Amino acid sequence: MQNPIVNQIFFSVQGEGKNSGSPSIFVRFSGCNFICPWCDTKYAQKGKEMTVDDICKIIQNLQCKNIVFTGGEPFLQQDAILEIIKKLNRVSELYYYEVETNGTLDVKEKLCELLDLITVSPKITVENYVYNNFYSELSKNCPELEVVFKFVVDNYGEMEQTLNFINKEKINENIIYLMPKATSITEQFTRLPKITKFVIRNHLSNLRVTSRLQYLSDLDQTEREDGKC
Ligand code: SF4
Repeated sequence: MQNPIVNQIFFSVQGEGKNSGSPSIFVRFSGCNFICPWCDTKYAQKGKEMTVDDICKIIQNLQCKNIVFTGGEPFLQQDAILEIIKKLNRVSELYYYEVETNGTLDVKEKLCELLDLITVSPKITVENYVYNNFYSELSKNCPELEVVFKFVVDNYGEMEQTLNFINKEKINENIIYLMPKATSITEQFTRLPKITKFVIRNHLSNLRVTSRLQYLSDLDQTEREDGKC
C-alpha cells in the first residue's frame, strides 16, 4: 500500500449530520474524484504523504475517540483507512469511526465491517454526478454499520430534486439530513428557514434538518482547524 496523502488532521466539533455537536478528530484525506462548483474544501486537493504510524500517533495525541475520515473523497484512500483503524483498534476498543463520502465509490467489505457510520452526501444537483447504489444496499449487507444520507440544498427546486432522488433510490426518510449550502452565518440564516419551511409544508415527518455548526459558531479558519497536522 502506498502511504496516504493527507491534507490535515485536527480536533474540532462535528458540525453536521447525525453526530452534530460531537467533539471529533478529523482526518482529511487529499484529493477527490469529483468537482462540485460550491465545494467548501477545495484546498483538500493538496496534501502531504504521511505514514499510517504517524497518522495514528497524531490521533492518539489528540485524545478523542470519535474519528471522522473526510476529504476530498476519503474512500479513494480506503486501504489507508483500513490500516489506520486496524492499528487504532489494537490500542483501544473505544474508537468510533465515521466516513463522509460523496457516494460514488464501492467500499471493501472488510472496511465496512469496521466502520460505525458512513455519511453519504450525494451531489445530485451537480452535472455528471453518478450515484453508486452500493450505499442504498449497504445496511442490508452490513447490519452493524449505520448509513445516513446528507443532502446539501440551496432552494426549493433542489429540495424537490432530493425528494425525487430518495423516492427513486428507495432510501428511508428517517436516515435523511437536509443541510443548507452555506459557508457563513449569513448564508445559513437565509437558507435554514427555507429548508425548515419546506419540511413543514410538505409534512416530511421523518427526515431531519441539520445546520453547519462550524460556520454558525463563527470560528475563523484557524480555530476550525485547531490542532491540524
Ligand atoms: S464531492 Fe465533496 S470534496 Fe469532492 S468536490 Fe464535491 S463537495 Fe468537494
